[in-house]
Amino acid sequence: MSGFNGAKYCWMNGSIIETEKALVSAMEPIHLGIFEGIKAYLEGDLAGRGKQNIFAWKPHIDRLFRSAAVNGLVMPYNKDELLAAAKETIRANNFTGNVYLQPRIWPKSGTPRGKPESHVVIPAWEMNTLLGASNQAFAKERRFMVSSWRRIATDALPPQAKSWANYGNSGLAGRESSRLGFDGAIMLDNRGFVSESTGACLAVIKDGKVVTPSVTASILESVTRDYLLKYLPIDINVHTEVRDLTRMDLYASEEAFLLGTGAEITPITSIDDIKIGETYPGPITTQIQTYYSDVVSGKNDKRRIWLTPVWV
Ligand code: PMP
Repeated sequence: MSGFNGAKYCWMNGSIIETEKALVSAMEPIHLGIFEGIKAYLEGDLAGRGKQNIFAWKPHIDRLFRSAAVNGLVMPYNKDELLAAAKETIRANNFTGNVYLQPRIWPKSGTPRGKPESHVVIPAWEMNTLLGASNQAFAKERRFMVSSWRRIATDALPPQAKSWANYGNSGLAGRESSRLGFDGAIMLDNRGFVSESTGACLAVIKDGKVVTPSVTASILESVTRDYLLKYLPIDINVHTEVRDLTRMDLYASEEAFLLGTGAEITPITSIDDIKIGETYPGPITTQIQTYYSDVVSGKNDKRRIWLTPVWV
């Protein structure tokens, strides 16, 4: 680990450099930028040593380009070049664990009018996983609250894109929940329906089915959510529904969990101190967790196509 928050090496504007040397002027408008959060998992044994595969590269990189387009940023590298860069970043650091990559793009300051350019950096972190049947962290209790902060309205800042600006809103809700002694926040959208958490989407179990808000409820277009909606019914016979969820739906749910690249499948114990379900973590959440764990670690042969090997 370097003195900076991250691994020894990162990729910046075309080459691998030491993270400590990834310096730009304090005048750069990084806050106007966009980013992605992508994970690479060890093959086979999530807790052991081995080679990483990037999970769901294509939808992540596609979203990065959509985020750039809506925020008026030019992309100086194409998707293949960025994949090569992502692999190079993992290899350069010789990580022995699971890895989180966070490609960041922001507008270069001082470029001539009408000729915008962008900076690109790919920092990396070794990141533990909640996944794996023996992981006690999965069973840890997590108390969530409904935030007094609404999720940003889709006609103010597009929550579907992953821009730093959106995380000002997440920060307000996250800080409120920690101040009040909770483990996390759930935000409602500007209509009063359930939106998402501060850095993950949310799903509840109702009548044995996974129910999650639609993309029009001010959520990020989550890669994990799309994946689960598509494959849970086919692969493990867990049915899904996309619809508006009310606050009552949260309180009266059988199970509730966060889903996302970083959050993976994170069970929620209570919302506003109302206990969710009869057992914790709930049986369907646990089933989905095991399934997701198998997919990302290459144990599910049918879904191997979702993994991009880093070391070949
Ligand atoms: N919503 C927010 C606000 C997030 O930051 C994330 C994490 N990227 C998600 C949802 C989940 O998205 P994904 O499954 O693509 O990681």
